[in-house]
Parts: sequence; C-alpha cells; structure tokens
Amino acid sequence: MRPFSTSLADERLIIVVSGPGGVGKGTIVDALVRRDPRLWLSRSWTTRERRVGEREDAYVFVSPERFESRIGQGGFLEWTEFLGNYYGTPRPERLDDPDAPDIVLEIELDGAQQVKQQYPQAVLIFVVPPSREEQERRLRGRGDPDDKVHARLRKAEKEEPVGREIADYLVVNDDLDHTVDEMLGIVDRERSR
Ligand code: ADP
Ligand code: 5GP
Repeated sequence: MRPFSTSLADERLIIVVSGPGGVGKGTIVDALVRRDPRLWLSRSWTTRERRVGEREDAYVFVSPERFESRIGQGGFLEWTEFLGNYYGTPRPERLDDPDAPDIVLEIELDGAQQVKQQYPQAVLIFVVPPSREEQERRLRGRGDPDDKVHARLRKAEKEEPVGREIADYLVVNDDLDHTVDEMLGIVDRERSR
C-alpha cells in the first residue's frame, strides 16, 4: 500500500474552496458536485450546533470530546478552531482506489493553508462577495443571528486580504450560475494540466 501523501498527490485533484462566511461556498460546492460526478465533496466534522433549517448531513455534528479524541488519533487531514468551535476534515478513505473521484474541500482559510502546506499542488479557490453589504444580506437571509453576523463580518475583514494573496484563483460570487460555470471551468483546466 502506498503512503497517503503519494496516492493523493499523484492521482487526485484537490480543490479547496475557501472564503468568508455567507459568501455562498456551501451553495456553490453543492452545485459543483451535482454538475460534475467526478468530484467528491468531503463532509467535515464540527462541534457547532446545527442551524435551524440546515441539512442534517451538512456536517458530522459531534461533541468537543469526540472531536478531540479524533484529533488525538491523527484522524484529521486538517482542523481548526473557528469562532469558538472545532471544524475538521476527516482523512479521506479509499486512498489507493484509482477510480476515486477528485476531492472538494469547503473550509476556512487556516485549514486551507494547512492543506496547501501538505499538498502544494492543491488548488485554492478563494470566493469573495460582490460587496460586504451583500455578504451581510446573505448571512441575515440564511437566518444567522445578529452576533454571528457581526463576528463573521469581522472575521472576513481580517481573512480576505490573506485569501486574496494566497489564492490560486479568485472568484466573485455575484450571479450563482455564472460562479458555478466559472468554477467548473477551473476544474477542467486543472485536470488537463
Ligand atoms: P457559506 O457556505 O459561504 O457560509 P452559504 O452557501 O450558506 O454560504 O450561502 C449564504 C446564503 O447566501 C444562502 O442563503 C445562499 O442561498 C445565498 N447565496 C449563495 N450564493 C448566492 C448568490 N450568488 N446570490 C445570492 N444569494 C446567494
Ligand atoms: P459554518 O459554521 O458557516 O458552517 O462554517 C464556518 C467556517 O468553517 C466556514 O468558513 C467553513 O468553510 C469552515 N469549515 C467548514 N468545514 C471545515 C473544515 O473541515 N475545516 C476547516 N478548517 N474549516 C471548515
């Protein structure tokens, strides 16, 4: 059996989608994997509460104890603490399966940097909103409470300059269909390299 890093590095495209909260990352990656069956969306673990109306399978929702136990076992490809909760990507299975699909990770910037350090060939797509006002509208439209909206907007102010700097591709999520087409174009281009 080949080591983990070799199989990932040689056989799979790793697409990392990052960007500020409420910009539309979750919506975009759902559409991406629906449109391209060769893409597989990794399901993250989190210790945060499920939002009202949020899908049960949006994350694996776990207790801090369970999350920490998995950290101890080296069970995450990357993990971080974001606004008071843990979030992490479980190490993908089917590592040596040549038919395994390409991987999409939808994660925040610290995790994206961890992935880039381990797999420099990972493709980082940083998604930004057309404006901070529109980002706020989307957060409120999704039902985030006031304090969460403010915390996410503050976090975005800090993260965005870094994201723009280290991104392989910068995508403005204005019209959703256009964004998804643009991202599918990026995936095609990276596959044909
Ligand atoms: P994120 O995963 O980045 O936190 P979400 O995918 O939860 O963001 O999207 C936040 C809200 O914005 C959702 O209500 C979603 O339907 C909406 N949204 C996503 N993309 C667009 C877009 N291009 N135009 C308008 N609304 C959008
Ligand atoms: P939310 O609470 O809005 O679902 O997610 C908060 C932030 O955590 C978002 O920026 C989201 O992309 C990020 N996130 C989700 N899953 C993971 C993960 O597995 N690892 C990391 N590092 N961030 C994640």
